[in-house]
Amino acid sequence: MAGAAVTPPGQRLRDRIRASRGTLTIMAEPGDQLRVATMARGLIGSEILKIASEIRARQRDGRAICNLTVGDFAPSEFPIPDRLRAGVRAALDAGETNYPPSSGVQELREAVSRFYARELGLDYPSSSILVAGGARPLIYGIYRAVVDPGDVVVYPVPSWNNNHYCHMVGAREAPVVCGPEDLFLPTRDALVRELAGARLVCINSPLNPTGTAISSDALRGICEAIAEQNDLRRRTGERPLYLMYDHIYWMLCVEGVEHVTPTGLVPELAPYTIYVDGISKAFAATGLRVGWSAGPADIIERMSALLGHVGAWAPRAEQVATIALLDDASAVAEFLAGFRPAVNRRLERLHDGFAAMQAEGLPVESLPPMGGIYLTVRIAPFGRRTPAGQLLETNEQVRAYLLEAADFAVVPFQAFGMAGDSGWFRLSVGAASEQEIQGALPRVGTALRALA
Ligand code: PMP
Repeated sequence: MAGAAVTPPGQRLRDRIRASRGTLTIMAEPGDQLRVATMARGLIGSEILKIASEIRARQRDGRAICNLTVGDFAPSEFPIPDRLRAGVRAALDAGETNYPPSSGVQELREAVSRFYARELGLDYPSSSILVAGGARPLIYGIYRAVVDPGDVVVYPVPSWNNNHYCHMVGAREAPVVCGPEDLFLPTRDALVRELAGARLVCINSPLNPTGTAISSDALRGICEAIAEQNDLRRRTGERPLYLMYDHIYWMLCVEGVEHVTPTGLVPELAPYTIYVDGISKAFAATGLRVGWSAGPADIIERMSALLGHVGAWAPRAEQVATIALLDDASAVAEFLAGFRPAVNRRLERLHDGFAAMQAEGLPVESLPPMGGIYLTVRIAPFGRRTPAGQLLETNEQVRAYLLEAADFAVVPFQAFGMAGDSGWFRLSVGAASEQEIQGALPRVGTALRALA
């Protein structure tokens, strides 16, 4: 065939790499989509991180933002316990720098076992405890250990990241929408229809994003429904239905709110329940990366085998420091006695501020804080116009307006799987000072009053 020579596939890329002597930053080109596996291609990034970059850009312009978007702590506002900081330093000095065992340092597994017995009345031997680099790998490990591709995972929305974990393991998702009438928490009635044939139910309390906590009646009802499913399946030989109970915020319940646990309420659920927990939130130690699971030993052992290959261990020095902290009941109590009220004061200020705006007739409402570092607020000035003439119709437009007009940064519930522009937002207080919150509330009021 005459005419221009056809470049063989890959030749152009090979030429570019050669010409650059290996320094080329390899960029995907049109037609290159299939370079990446289907699962990786379909992964979606965090909505919150997108908002965070917008906030950073405004901060660079010199704006003082009241940033209520990140589920993290500013160390200047919320330092870790002294016992933990000193413990990490001492452990490093003592040479705790090699690989930890893949299930976690044995003494830490024992310390978690004692901690659960002492603080929660739960009886888990150390062989039922797995330590990992924060809660995330444990959640991934649970999904991987019990869910086969195509299995159904039931989770309430709004909730945090279950959609991403489902995607990674190829699960079929059964999201169950929960509404403000139930404080956005699941009930037996809401979940029960989805349980037949499902493999895993995921519950988180206190809940990210809402800061609300499940009641013992609701959790007992759900646990009994799961137990009934498993009674049935024992007879038919079908694989069991498991419960992941992520209670990473349990130490941060506000006073008067009782934290309840599945196996505390329904002990027969023990063979099917896997807890997720760690130091990230309770001790403001998100960057230290120590988390743990408690659950049936056979599942824990498979999670350990999996996470061992991933290498998702908690750093050894941090594990050693956590042993001393968890074993020191008075250090834990003393830390929480300062930390919890500091979180709650911020939540209360915001809640009171929005309640005052609501009383004034502004289109807002706020759910009472119950735990965690989050507050649920509805800001719904839909159908109104901004001073610049923009009609507000979506959560995203309200979010952008509050950031622009009030330097007030919040996350819409869409980031937690909740479809629809209902006006609900998550406010996270870990990175904001009381003064910043106090200063921002009047700006929000002014911005809302300025709408026509
Ligand atoms: N579970 C919930 C409910 C969370 O909100 C978070 C953090 N946002 C995690 C788990 C992850 O915690 P870690 O930082 O220990 O991985």
